[in-house]
Amino acid sequence: MKCSIENCPGEYQEQFISQVFTRHGESIVIENIPAKVCDLCGDTVLDWAAVERLWQTLDNQPKPRKFLPVYSYTAIPV
Ligand SMILES: [Zn+2]
Repeated sequence: MKCSIENCPGEYQEQFISQVFTRHGESIVIENIPAKVCDLCGDTVLDWAAVERLWQTLDNQPKPRKFLPVYSYTAIPV
């Protein structure tokens, strides 16, 4: 499928991506979300229906498999 960004001749490729979301005021990462990603400009179209299905059942999902450090850019001295 052709990219939806104006003047981009790229094509969307099916990929699985990771995305950061905010839930109850906390950042969470969801991996392996089905998405279409433009092979030229990188425009990404999430499968929001898939995210919504996971979101609705998140409290019943297995506990996170990994934890990662989170840094705030605003805390970095300049
Ligand atoms: Zn594109």
